[in-house]
Amino acid sequence: MLGLMQDWPLTVDKIIDHAKNWHGHREVVSRSVEGPIVRTTYAEMHGRSKRVSNALLAWGVKPGDRIATLAWNTGRHMEAWYGIMGIGAVCHTLNPRLFPEQLIYIINHAEDRMIFVDLTFVPLLEAILPHCPSVKKVIVMTDEWTMPATKLPAAECYEQVLSEASEDVTWGGFDEQTACGLCYTSGTTGNPKGVLYSHRSNFIHTLLGLQTTVLGATPNEVILPVVPMFHANAWGIAFGGPAAGSKLVLPGAKMDGESIYELIVSEGVTFSAAVPTVWQGLLTHLRDNKLQIPTVKRVLIGGSAVPESLIRAFHDEFGIEVLQGWGMTETSPIGTLSNLPPELAALPYDEQMKWRVKQGTPPLGVELKLKDYDGNEIPHDGHSYGRLMIKGPTISGAYFKDEGGSILDDEGFFDTGDVSTIDEQGFMQITDRAKDVIKSGGEWISSIEIENIAVGHPKVELAAVIGAAHPKWDERPVLLIKLKPGESENKQEHLDFLQGKIAKWWTPDDVVFVDDIPLGATGKIDKKGLREQMKDYRLPGAG
Ligand code: ADP
Repeated sequence: MLGLMQDWPLTVDKIIDHAKNWHGHREVVSRSVEGPIVRTTYAEMHGRSKRVSNALLAWGVKPGDRIATLAWNTGRHMEAWYGIMGIGAVCHTLNPRLFPEQLIYIINHAEDRMIFVDLTFVPLLEAILPHCPSVKKVIVMTDEWTMPATKLPAAECYEQVLSEASEDVTWGGFDEQTACGLCYTSGTTGNPKGVLYSHRSNFIHTLLGLQTTVLGATPNEVILPVVPMFHANAWGIAFGGPAAGSKLVLPGAKMDGESIYELIVSEGVTFSAAVPTVWQGLLTHLRDNKLQIPTVKRVLIGGSAVPESLIRAFHDEFGIEVLQGWGMTETSPIGTLSNLPPELAALPYDEQMKWRVKQGTPPLGVELKLKDYDGNEIPHDGHSYGRLMIKGPTISGAYFKDEGGSILDDEGFFDTGDVSTIDEQGFMQITDRAKDVIKSGGEWISSIEIENIAVGHPKVELAAVIGAAHPKWDERPVLLIKLKPGESENKQEHLDFLQGKIAKWWTPDDVVFVDDIPLGATGKIDKKGLREQMKDYRLPGAG
């Protein structure tokens, strides 16, 4: 027997409709790409998104057409999103930090018809578009008076287009399974692959994100998503903010410590989300200038493992709770969060740290499993490690154009490519990405765990651990360190710092001081780039 409730397709236009109807005056504040702070509201944004839709329809855009954005987090970018998605077209967020060849590959693979671009990236587009025949129009997201002279084909000025378009358009009315957003994984192995979100998956992900253990967004929160909209949908905040009626503060092109601090103070930010490297930058700025950010209660840190030193610094020096999140583009991206249950939260703070550094437990809507390489399930004992498998309505079932073939196991779980443990409390901990794990004498060494301890040394700015070939053990860990400015090199003190915190046989065979540690397109340490940089390195005594 079926239930008798209404069929109300879960399409994301309903999110911005809701924001306009019930939180219409709530502000969205952006640091514009042109410089000044720009204020709008959900009601205004709703009308402007409708104008975007009308312009697209007038240009002949059809449901399913891919319309790309190459832009920072701003109100305009959000309007373009909702305008594209509302008429059943697919919003393809391009990551401007990718190499030009990767962008060309992705645009051609997606067959993008049009691109909404920020002023910053006009020169980049001018260089790559001759190689992207599918792109017929470019909309530069700026005002008439800042519109650059450009050789881009059919370049339109966003504000002029909007001023000429009407707000009269009907959104939605299609199947909730209709494609809505497209985001390519950075392709650390092989070519980038397209993750194709549906209206339904984004809507459910929004509800999932509104759980108190996730974003916990309310109209009382002022949310600053530093994590870019092109990095797995700003972790859902561009949907969750309007859904909850939270004020949004969007940082535009400036994500350095000083600029983020200014926005936090001027807008009264209560909650923010970013990768660890951004937080490290803010922390340095706060410390160097003896500043506090008392309005901020919680920060969400994810995208790579959060070092204990960062969790402690926010807690001890600024009274801010760090919530660690794990996820990936394929998981929309929310997978797990490090909320401590009451039994663990009651422990002394130092003892809580064992769990705070873990990636945590899934919210309702996400299923997790650990499997070994033969497909057997692995016990949740906190030390047996295996492949982390994930399932749910917000998890990829296949890649765009079936790239990579079938990606689910026979129970419908997706293999994340992460190696992890799950403990008796259900806390998942990432040991490594499968391709970064160091294989030494038939056992595995977690590069992440060593890095997270090493970066806590007061002289260290960034630390990374990679495996180097070893004649007897196959691979041994090498610790690469970028020192803070003015600090002196002393290998032994970094090895001593690890003693007692990791198993003795995990101790790196060497410490190498480097001028820089490359960061990838989503602000994480680029292990592939690092291995390339170190390809001629030989362990002492390894010939
Ligand atoms: P990219 O490869 O572009 O960074 P994703 O953002 O999809 O793409 O990266 C997802 C991967 O990032 C995960 O599979 C995992 O390896 C890593 N990751 C994300 N969050 C965490 C975290 N809190 N701790 C450790 N690793 C993380």
